[in-house]
Amino acid sequence: DHLINQIAAGEVVERPANALKEIVENSIDAGATEIDVELSGGGIKLIRVTDNGAGIHADDIALALSRHATSKIASLADLEHVASMGFRGEGLASIASVSRLTLTSRRAGSSHGQRISATDGKLNPGGAAAHPVGTTVEVGELFFNTPARRKFLKSESTEYAHCATMLERLALAHPQIAFSLKRDGKTVFHYPAQSLHQRVAAIIGEDFQTASIEIDSGEGIMRLTGVIAKPTFSKGKSSQQYCFVNRRFVRDKVMLHAVKQAYRDVLHNALTPAFVLFLELPPENVDANVHPTKTEVRFRDSQAVHQLIFHTLNKALAGTRA
Ligand code: ADP
Ligand code: MG
Repeated sequence: DHLINQIAAGEVVERPANALKEIVENSIDAGATEIDVELSGGGIKLIRVTDNGAGIHADDIALALSRHATSKIASLADLEHVASMGFRGEGLASIASVSRLTLTSRRAGSSHGQRISATDGKLNPGGAAAHPVGTTVEVGELFFNTPARRKFLKSESTEYAHCATMLERLALAHPQIAFSLKRDGKTVFHYPAQSLHQRVAAIIGEDFQTASIEIDSGEGIMRLTGVIAKPTFSKGKSSQQYCFVNRRFVRDKVMLHAVKQAYRDVLHNALTPAFVLFLELPPENVDANVHPTKTEVRFRDSQAVHQLIFHTLNKALAGTRA
């Protein structure tokens, strides 16, 4: 089982940023309104995530670290429905098999928290522990027991940058949640719960925020919202182009192509400026499970997605020219 977990870990966790994503997504799923992240050594030495979500019942804490234990799928019908969101029940088990993981959690109504740790996939019950309502996950020494995989890690600063990028995407998709990041003990950011506009300004910059247009349009089962730069906004960094599908960051050729085409119609240079777009559609119309660490998706009707984005942006951008 340990070996299976380690193999699964290869699928889920290539680097600290993937572990961070799994852990923070669990915090989001648990209804947290505040998520605090601390990284040391680029996340290789330590990833610590504390949330104020629902917490895990003392009786279930060991289960949370076992493979295919998920509290999020009650039936096979459910599985069909949420599979595209990536609830596979293997995130924590996989991370635990390739690190020293400690999970401390307390449910509302419990008088104290409960702790459990896992080293090299073996569980050590830790017993009662002081903790406010919510959960703390600590992942130490990622890949300490899989040297081959450890060798593929880049420098601490590169791994840190991947973690920070991952967290920024999650923070953009969930502006109603407060997020903070500490790097080697120093605070990098602390975003309070805020509007999308304020979060965009905090992450992409005030200058983008003041030179942007709000998007909100629907077509049948799809809805497109977000903020895009006015054609006059000259910065065109691809690192400031964000597409989300059902609140998950994606890199999608269809979406990107539609955006570029809309800008090309009004701009004469080929640069595509910054944008943040959220596409919402029924989960059965998109397959996001191409690969757990990849950001690709497959749309059932990619032509409809392209048309919605192109027409919405084209109209919004044309309005700025008059
Ligand atoms: P999945 O998220 O696919 O269910 P995970 O291995 O990531 O699988 O987590 C296993 C289970 O542990 C979750 O289904 C959830 O019940 C519990 N869990 C993990 N992290 C948290 C958290 N931060 N708050 C509350 N429950 C959590
Ligand atoms: Mg999970």
